[in-house]
Amino acid sequence: MRVLFIAGNWKMNPAKGEEAIALANAVKTGVGQAIDVRVAICPPFPWLGVVDDALSGSPIGLGAQNMNAKADGAYTGETSGAMLVDIGCTHVILGHSERRHGLGETNEQVNQKLLTALGVGLIPIVCIGETRQEREADQTESVIGHQLNGSLAGVTPEQMGGVVLAYEPVWAIGTGLTASPAQAQAVHAFIRGKLVTLFGGATAARVIVQYGGSVKADNALELLACPDIDGALVGGASLKPADFLGIIQAGQTVTATGKPAS
Ligand code: PEP
Repeated sequence: MRVLFIAGNWKMNPAKGEEAIALANAVKTGVGQAIDVRVAICPPFPWLGVVDDALSGSPIGLGAQNMNAKADGAYTGETSGAMLVDIGCTHVILGHSERRHGLGETNEQVNQKLLTALGVGLIPIVCIGETRQEREADQTESVIGHQLNGSLAGVTPEQMGGVVLAYEPVWAIGTGLTASPAQAQAVHAFIRGKLVTLFGGATAARVIVQYGGSVKADNALELLACPDIDGALVGGASLKPADFLGIIQAGQTVTATGKPAS
């Protein structure tokens, strides 16, 4: 049985370390100890250390938003996976659409980062998703299939069981538009089927596939209740403790009541 996983992507926020500490403390207090969903927060690089300190004693995981594929060397401005582990990270977001579309990150680059992340013991959250134009051209499945083939190349079934995927339709990120539960579930079911083909049924049944794209406290319950949606990658709402905690609460509710039979 897959445990729901709610992760917060703070993107390039907040501006000050003391605000990051306050945000982490609020989430930590709200989550407490007794959670039956997985939770992680992913601050920007400069706040990873102070947020790690703030989260001490909490079950909340710490994630970075990117890393370099290289282990070390002359890569000015870059951050290695080993550095992330040393500062306390357990997770790393890879291939976020703002990097794929804003910075031209390719499936091959995401794949290299993924293999490096697995090598240093980080849990990767690999983002995939189609643009609005691709959806309107009925290319959603071919785009997602291509992203999965390229991003997951060379990953063993055993490794894949520990990889988290995040389906984030680009048109729904930061726009206030959310895929309907039926639209999201249809793509998640496609992803699960693709994982069966690539890694076998046993592995596919273990892989956490989050949904991301304007998830809020008031739409989380029906999204998380879908059979193949195993959590959420949350951007804007993760910057407001009450909203993020509301999404976590929705995950707790779905966990307690069980998903409706599909
Ligand atoms: C994200 O940043 O991954 C995201 C889904 O953002 P938002 O929730 O703001 O759409």
